[in-house]
Amino acid sequence: MTEKKTELSELGEFGLIDHLTKKFENKNSSTIKGIGDDSAVIYLNENESQLVSTDMLIEGVHFNLMYMPLKHLGYKAVAVNVSDICAMNGVAEQITVSIAVSSRFPVEALEELYEGIELACKNYNVDLVGGDTTTSTSGLIINVTAIGKAKNEEIAYRNGAKEFDLMVVSGDLGGAYMGLQLLEREKEVFKANPNIQPDLDGHDYILQRQLKPEARIDVIGYLKELDVIPTSMIDISDGLASEILHICKSSNVGCNIYDEKIPIDAQTSVAAIDFNLDPNTCALNGGEDYELLFTIKQSDFDKIKGNPNMTVIGHVTDSKDGVYYVDKNGAVVELRAQGWNHFDEK
Ligand code: ADP
Ligand code: MG
Repeated sequence: MTEKKTELSELGEFGLIDHLTKKFENKNSSTIKGIGDDSAVIYLNENESQLVSTDMLIEGVHFNLMYMPLKHLGYKAVAVNVSDICAMNGVAEQITVSIAVSSRFPVEALEELYEGIELACKNYNVDLVGGDTTTSTSGLIINVTAIGKAKNEEIAYRNGAKEFDLMVVSGDLGGAYMGLQLLEREKEVFKANPNIQPDLDGHDYILQRQLKPEARIDVIGYLKELDVIPTSMIDISDGLASEILHICKSSNVGCNIYDEKIPIDAQTSVAAIDFNLDPNTCALNGGEDYELLFTIKQSDFDKIKGNPNMTVIGHVTDSKDGVYYVDKNGAVVELRAQGWNHFDEK
């Protein structure tokens, strides 16, 4: 260890990953893609590759058990990993689950967690094939690894976007963030007066978006049926703006995104306005929607046109044109990411 102490917040999450891993070089020819995409890609044979992705969820950082039922947590832990396999245009087949638990949790609580894991395994057609169990001094930690497959010529990396491609998102955005705002508000009300019942009526959609997000395996199926191979793809875990910037940086391109094209559910808009927030800002910077952001060739537009699960939100430009956001009045601003950064000082 050197004497110098650098604060984690100086580097940020992506800067830290880069800093720690830049010296590593892949030694095996089977490692097609290592660090830097939603999943690693490992060569299997001339037709197919294996996809591997892992994510960790920590109590107090990624979830709060005051409002997150353990069953939902188990489901979400699997869904977010399956989502990373989807983001390569692949299909998840196996998961491993590792947990660290404190003595605060009775067996029944962990049974609930595993009910959620079981339901996700059923819905996403994946097998639980292993894991690890250990103790933690406080709180619950869950780490899921998902393993999947994709045809070599169908794998969608973050770096394949080309000028003139169309930028597309699945589903709608900002709901998970508004669900979180609502749960946080009701938690504060409850802490102040435990006799007050939470006011969650009419907010089922945004609550479900936060508590039980789905990996878009259906969208991967539609793309196959429509015979569309995305030129690049990423899943939206940190917020649309952050993911657009990842695709543009990896692909060395720019893009124009149109504010009025961003799909937002009515419940998300109503909740945002209720919280004095701009719905578009929530869609751009709120995280955890687990929708897919991808680019397609213009010649594929007719195949996805009118599909209610996919919305074109902009187009790819030359890198020197930059990454821009065009609002309803035609005003153009440079797109910046204000998504989650776990190392930001609160
Ligand atoms: P995602 O949001 O899609 O899960 P991340 O932003 O977490 O992706 O990670 C970006 C890339 O960095 C991925 O390839 C991931 O596997 C890799 N990565 C993250 N943390 C580490 C780490 N501590 N050591 C090595 N690789 C890491
Ligand atoms: Mg991802």
